[in-house]
Amino acid sequence: MNRRNFLTFTALTPLFARDLMAVEDNINLNNEITNSVYLPQKEWNTLVMLRNRIRALKKYVGFANFNILSFNDSLFYARNYSAIGKFTKDELTLIDKLFYEDPQEYGFYGIKTCFNLNNKISKKDIKKIPRTGHYLFRGKPLEDYKRLKQDVGSSLILTSGIRNTMKQLSLYCDKIYKHKGNITRASTSIAPPAYSYHTTSDFDVGRKGWGHKNFTAQFAQTKEFRKIRKLNYISMRYTINNQDGVRYEPWHIKVI
Ligand SMILES: [Zn+2]
Repeated sequence: MNRRNFLTFTALTPLFARDLMAVEDNINLNNEITNSVYLPQKEWNTLVMLRNRIRALKKYVGFANFNILSFNDSLFYARNYSAIGKFTKDELTLIDKLFYEDPQEYGFYGIKTCFNLNNKISKKDIKKIPRTGHYLFRGKPLEDYKRLKQDVGSSLILTSGIRNTMKQLSLYCDKIYKHKGNITRASTSIAPPAYSYHTTSDFDVGRKGWGHKNFTAQFAQTKEFRKIRKLNYISMRYTINNQDGVRYEPWHIKVI
């Protein structure tokens, strides 16, 4: 049963629905209903502060650099530039929690891709892709991307490449904020910071000029996507009903 049908069903059965309303429902892969996990109030306040600080950090280092910035370098900039300001103890504790905790309790079943919050990305291993603000790892990811561009055409663009731990953390915090502290919801649409394949290999593509629509299921309707599907060297990481518990992401290219 998908989520929409499930909600319709509960609407028709008031008693059952009432029980569930108290503990916002979530359906995991095995169609079991589990409770959504929320960030506690104190951590919510910290998250709001943390997002502001990360925003200032990003503004300081620039969009492209922020994609590959390490945790220790983030601390360095925060400490030395008053426009950012030192991370507080509570913020550091929250970062630690979001990075190191096991997200299975939120319904995320992907495997860990990064074991070190202070993961370093060496400039010699990566290549900046012109006019995108994004980087790709040299080797297979870069080769796949170049080949993909050649086969699909110039309307295909790179929409997200390498994301080091701070970048992934910032996207994760944004999702938690958007879902008003519901971490279960957040982790169905973004991998937790230690679980993103963007940190190791994968990348996202889109159609030129499509903006945020590139990150919706609508991307699957484009001619770019149809062409991608015909290429035998390309596969999708997050297919419909994938094992990781992540939403369908037709734009996310799996690099193996
Ligand atoms: Zn992606």
